[in-house]
Amino acid sequence: MSTREYDDVVIGGGPAGLAAGLYAARARRRTALLEKGVIGGQISLTELVENYPGVPSVNGFDLGQTMHKQAESYGMETEYAEVTGLERQGKKWRVSTQEDEFLAKAVIITSGADYNKLGVPGEERLTGRGVSYCATCDAAFFKDQDVAVVGGGDSAVEEGMFAARFASKVTVIHRRDELRASRILQERAFANPKMHFLWNTVVSEVIGEDQVTALCLYNRATDAESTMPVAAVFVFIGHHPNTGFLRGLVDMDNGGHILVDDWMATALPGLFAAGDVRQNSARQVATSVGDGVTAAIAAEHYISENFLD
Ligand code: NAP
Repeated sequence: MSTREYDDVVIGGGPAGLAAGLYAARARRRTALLEKGVIGGQISLTELVENYPGVPSVNGFDLGQTMHKQAESYGMETEYAEVTGLERQGKKWRVSTQEDEFLAKAVIITSGADYNKLGVPGEERLTGRGVSYCATCDAAFFKDQDVAVVGGGDSAVEEGMFAARFASKVTVIHRRDELRASRILQERAFANPKMHFLWNTVVSEVIGEDQVTALCLYNRATDAESTMPVAAVFVFIGHHPNTGFLRGLVDMDNGGHILVDDWMATALPGLFAAGDVRQNSARQVATSVGDGVTAAIAAEHYISENFLD
């Protein structure tokens, strides 16, 4: 096992991490980005990104690759490895993976979040082809078509109403007979003529060849099975930040999101968190990029003030 020394180590290669890596590398800091899966994170699964300012329309995977190339062109190094541990060593941080160890003056955690999945047949195969975990990103592709939303929380209701701006009809499919969402959102949703509700119902299969065409449904109260034609299904059944490897080290909210200040700094020296992994993220590419930039600038100040070059 080798130990390599860096100024900044960025954990996670989604938009927040790629933006942080770009800024750290351009500050002429020796920077490593560690990614356990695919560069781009959640956007690598998104067919089209149309809400990133200045870029009218781009494939999500391509946007991630472009951000990556840009950061590497300034010297950011990429390591494909899963982080298994993080601990303070003197004035630095020791980041461990299965194979290697990295010593860093500052660490920026951008390990993102994963949406909870339904776990039913067809869901994975049709992700990006009508199965979506972001109506704000994808609802405009389903103008004047019938779509479904799964879930009963704030996200399901809020994103469902966003989808209703485009869709002809939005059916919210909820496993219980009352919503979890806040009253004010419920009132707005019930008053919206495009919003419809299916209670006590779960999705048992997503149907479609190349694109979603229908959902198989199961009513938990009546045991009835049915099929509902839809062009898209937006799934909002919660999400989980990728912070398992940080338990006990850094302050988190009940959902496992990292608590940071306005500069993306945790309460620990030289440790920053940005993007979906932090509390109160707006969970958009543009906001994650902003978070990553903020964290890298804060890390640069921290290194300048605490280490002699
Ligand atoms: P959430 O509040 O945890 O709601 C998840 C919903 O998905 C619940 O209705 C739950 O049903 C349902 N669900 C969970 N697992 C399921 C499964 N396997 N199959 C079918 N349904 C399932 O998640 P969220 O809506 O993403 O909100 C997360 C947090 O962000 C909340 O604190 C929320 O208040 C906040 N938020 C706030 C706003 C806002 O204030 N504008 C907007 C978005 C999010 P049950 O109800 O039966 O458990």
